[in-house]
Amino acid sequence: MLIPKTHPRAASLYIREKLVQGFRDGLVVEEGLLAHGRGEMFDYLIGEKTSKTAYKAIKAAARALVMAKLPVISVNGNIAALCPKEIVELSKVTGAKIEVNLFYASEKRKKVITQALKKNGAKEILGITPKFSKRIPKLDSARRIVDKRGIFSADVVLVPLEDGDRTITLKKFGKKVITFDLNPMSRTSQTADITIVDNVIRGMKILIDTCKKLSKEDLVEKKFDNKKNLKKSILIIRKNLRKMANA
Ligand code: ATP
Repeated sequence: MLIPKTHPRAASLYIREKLVQGFRDGLVVEEGLLAHGRGEMFDYLIGEKTSKTAYKAIKAAARALVMAKLPVISVNGNIAALCPKEIVELSKVTGAKIEVNLFYASEKRKKVITQALKKNGAKEILGITPKFSKRIPKLDSARRIVDKRGIFSADVVLVPLEDGDRTITLKKFGKKVITFDLNPMSRTSQTADITIVDNVIRGMKILIDTCKKLSKEDLVEKKFDNKKNLKKSILIIRKNLRKMANA
């Protein structure tokens, strides 16, 4: 589909088109399309732009990733379809490992996702070699199988566009969890240590830039109040709804 640049919702339609292409190419499953729809709705409500609140979370995330001993970026079909180039760049900038971890896993899908990442410059991809598999206890579905060189041993895990069960389990397993989630009320948002309430398409680029620009003074442990930050995102939604209701 050709989207005219002048279309008022061009950015959002372009993102949707990327995901649909990911579906056609076999990276994304039907359920991923539905999750994207939820994301679009929340993006609309936050005004389709990166808020100050999101910038604050991005700075905290950048610090956590750069200071981590073993950071890992967990990749599912949606994020692979939307940001393959950014995943690889973030991995280079932070030293994070890239691990494919899918809810609806199949060898074919893993292969397509791996190819997409490799096409964008990824050298090492974890989560695809059975001999390194380990199980995370108390998590059902194929996602409980992780790579012992990756998520299993990681101290910080970036899990963009995730569902609550997995985030909760990773937290119980002692990981510091960073997520991108446009819904500030989701279980993932509420459970993660750092939630970036922004469209991953906008936020990943800013995260990469922020990691590059961190100064020595930035690289010290600083408290980040995720709940407080999430409340501010919910207030943005409330304000936008009020504005529309009064228009
Ligand atoms: P939870 O289980 O955490 O309560 P959920 O059941 O909605 O939430 P998923 O179905 O895995 O979990 O949905 C993934 C989340 O990703 C949704 O909250 C959705 O708003 C969000 N999301 C979808 N697309 C994007 C995007 N492009 N950028 C950021 N977040 C997104």
